[in-house]
Amino acid sequence: MSTDHARHVAALAQACIHCGLCLEDCPTYLELGNELDSPRGRILLMRRTVDAGAPADDATRRHIALCLGCRACEAACPSGVRYGELLEHFRAALHAAPATQHAPQPSAATAGPERAPPPSQSRAQPRRTLIDRLTDLLIFHVTPYPRRLATAVTLGRWSRAAGLAALLNRLIPASRKLLRMLPAEAVRTARLPARLEPHGPPRDTVSLLAGCAPPVLTPRSVQRALRVLQHNGAAVECPARLHCCGAIHAHAGRLDTARDFARHNIRVLETAAPADRPIVTLAAGCGAMLRGYGALLADDPHFARRAAQVAARVRDISEYLVALGPIAPTRPIRRSVCVHDACHLVHVQRVQSAPRRLLSMIPGIDLREASEAAICCGAAGSYNLTQPETAERLARRKLGNLAATGAACAATGNIGCILHLNAVRESMDEAGSAPPAAAAPSPPPAPAIVHTIDLLHEAYGLPDS
Ligand code: SF4
Ligand code: SF4
Repeated sequence: MSTDHARHVAALAQACIHCGLCLEDCPTYLELGNELDSPRGRILLMRRTVDAGAPADDATRRHIALCLGCRACEAACPSGVRYGELLEHFRAALHAAPATQHAPQPSAATAGPERAPPPSQSRAQPRRTLIDRLTDLLIFHVTPYPRRLATAVTLGRWSRAAGLAALLNRLIPASRKLLRMLPAEAVRTARLPARLEPHGPPRDTVSLLAGCAPPVLTPRSVQRALRVLQHNGAAVECPARLHCCGAIHAHAGRLDTARDFARHNIRVLETAAPADRPIVTLAAGCGAMLRGYGALLADDPHFARRAAQVAARVRDISEYLVALGPIAPTRPIRRSVCVHDACHLVHVQRVQSAPRRLLSMIPGIDLREASEAAICCGAAGSYNLTQPETAERLARRKLGNLAATGAACAATGNIGCILHLNAVRESMDEAGSAPPAAAAPSPPPAPAIVHTIDLLHEAYGLPDS
């Protein structure tokens, strides 16, 4: 294990006092019921690996791979354990070291009672295969690049229409999920103009980071966000040369690539706008990553201060609008709506009340709270591609909780959650299966998942063209 990453892991893990107060906030512990799939168990595995000074065994790799990186444990921890950084450094060490064939099973003393582990949990992680490499290609070399992603989407649609989806799924199993997430109808990638003027008297100017996937996979939501900002008197500038925020790479432990993306984006954002201009994000994962640039580049003498300055300018769109003072919507939406808190919005950016404030301003909306609103839905960046069984279980759990509110739709602030949950919801509809809502004999159907800003756009009566 790399000594640099091991040093970080050892230092960060020391803060954990094994109190277990984070366990009930951990989605994988709740769903899988195994202590080694809890924050406390994973920190123990990381410490043991670092203390042993040996490569991680396959069981450790498996439990770390099953971690969503949702950071609910970090928000719950009274001892201030920086679990997100800990996980990234440990994954960086795993990424640098080869897998072993040694796969010790957890002892009864450390493992909690198993509750129906998914199939992938019951076998040792195999060495890297051609399929693994093709999956990496899709995740790390296609999805972070909008043009490549748009081409892949076109090819995906074409393969689906030509009846070749099964072949593609065999070659790259992760593509199955991606194909399921494609919108039913073909849509053009959202165009991001260099500058859009506000509607009405100007109140502010923002730099917008729309992300890599949203303009390709949910272009309507991106266009609606632009209009909502304009409607609220904000001029919107979209710096053309921004790259991926680096989240996909950082979560997988590819920290050097993530740092390269971060340095590039910092240079672009510094030159594109004055140092006090807000940087507005539409996807919780991107916002969380940008806010983490300071920590990511803390050891870089040329970028540490600049990274912290850029991070301090980042605002989720809901948070930004609430701080600006949103124009009150006047068109009623007579619908019941519940909220799914995206992990990287609620646990990392600590934004929870702003989306509810915006929704409660809309006349006619019946706002409801769901159980486990802040428990991850399983989307978690590329997790739904790399851990599809657990991701699907978490999505069904989430949909069950949302359905139990009886709401017609659920609002969230992360496009990954929207695509993942709607894909699972549609597959459940096709299969005619209902989500397992606790204590509800015949639960209502799971609500459609939309972006909070989609509802605000509708309540402003803004056009979709
Ligand atoms: S991560 Fe925090 S809450 Fe969880 S066991 Fe360690 S000290 Fe306790
Ligand atoms: S990041 Fe999420 S899934 Fe991972 S240990 Fe923490 S709470 Fe559990």
